[in-house]
Amino acid sequence: MIENKQKCGTKKIKIHFYIIIFIALFFSSCKQEEKKTEKLDPEAQLAEIQRRIDSLENYISNSPILKPAIVESNFGLFQTLQKIGLDNKQSLKIGNTLADTVEIGTLRVGQVFWVGFDQKDTSKAVLFRYAENPATFHFLIMDSTGEWKYKIVEKPVTVRYAMYEGVIKEGSNLNNALKEIGVPQNMVGTVSEAFRCKVSERTDQHSGDKFKVMLREKRFQDSIWIEGRVLYIYYDGYRVKHFEAFWYQETDPKSSFNAHYTEDGEALISSGLRYPMDRLHITSRYGYRIHPITGQRAFHNGVDYRGAVGTPVYAVAEGVVVQSTYDDISGNFISIKHSDNSQSLYLHLSQRGVSSGQRVRSRQVIGKVGNTGRSSGPHLHFAIKQPNGQYMNPLDKKMIATPKLEGAKLASLMEQIKTIREALGKTESAEPKSIGDSLQATVKYIQKYE
Ligand SMILES: [Zn+2]
Repeated sequence: MIENKQKCGTKKIKIHFYIIIFIALFFSSCKQEEKKTEKLDPEAQLAEIQRRIDSLENYISNSPILKPAIVESNFGLFQTLQKIGLDNKQSLKIGNTLADTVEIGTLRVGQVFWVGFDQKDTSKAVLFRYAENPATFHFLIMDSTGEWKYKIVEKPVTVRYAMYEGVIKEGSNLNNALKEIGVPQNMVGTVSEAFRCKVSERTDQHSGDKFKVMLREKRFQDSIWIEGRVLYIYYDGYRVKHFEAFWYQETDPKSSFNAHYTEDGEALISSGLRYPMDRLHITSRYGYRIHPITGQRAFHNGVDYRGAVGTPVYAVAEGVVVQSTYDDISGNFISIKHSDNSQSLYLHLSQRGVSSGQRVRSRQVIGKVGNTGRSSGPHLHFAIKQPNGQYMNPLDKKMIATPKLEGAKLASLMEQIKTIREALGKTESAEPKSIGDSLQATVKYIQKYE
């Protein structure tokens, strides 16, 4: 043991202060270990302890120098990284690697990314961290070959099922009722959206109408909001009559089938027309925006869905192909005219499988995702032109086909409905917590740790 101490001592002199702390910690653990493993060969013990100390010192001496990269007004990730000394090439590489795996969304002024620089070459980034929320961290780590590797770290969160019940009062509406009843602020819009297909605010809502909502809420340290999902909605109204709907989830979190369905498998979405691919990873939305990576302001007339080259692209609704051609900007593209005279457009395809004049069914494969024309990586640019020729947000388009689940998907929905009904039963029998009597509202929770 004395010999071992000397070894550690001579090494620690040349390194930093916190290494001393680490080594001190190590010694305390060494001592404990010594007690527990007294019967082991002392030589082997010392060798093992030394191996651990060496690997720790190796880790510390190679650990990157961390710097915060703080988002300023009108900054994209690109500008934010350049501000702390990364060159164009590194900034773009980080931006693109991140966009391959994560939806960065809109950056907030003051948001902090952490970048780790190599100790020996301080202009070289070797680590990048993006905190999606207080419990979810996305890391890019440079491996020995100089490639960025992605890693996600998730801290444990509390999951609870919360049931919100209420009655719409005279002169009020569902949206207000949801707020008053205590549905978390950042879920009110999502809950309203789930009801919207069946219960229009202008024509369907009536005082005395009853509703129920069950949310699956994720919180960090019990109080910090992380995420919510509307698992169940129920409405019993004067005009709408009775209906209920359940959340259906496939293994792929980006599956275009993930939505609310009635018990007979009908999707509760006001637009059946959002689904040109099976997997909907939006990398760029419609409208004027500061691009999250380049930081440039531009108008984007469609939605970009990321997908590998060759991924099937579907007609979003029945119609007639009006263009199936190539140009230098759009690459291989297809446009389809629908019964309401709107057009759906599919750009940058690697392959086109239909020709002009051809009639197509909803969800027929019309081509494959590609990277043709002016495109910075494989994706589908999907756009909708109104009958007057103006572009509109494809996510706002209401029309035509409502997907219905069939076969294995329908069977899976039935299984999931069973599980949701069980949670409903438990939640409803939990001790109610009153949120004020004006709406005769109750909120019931089941706390669960997952
Ligand atoms: Zn686009």
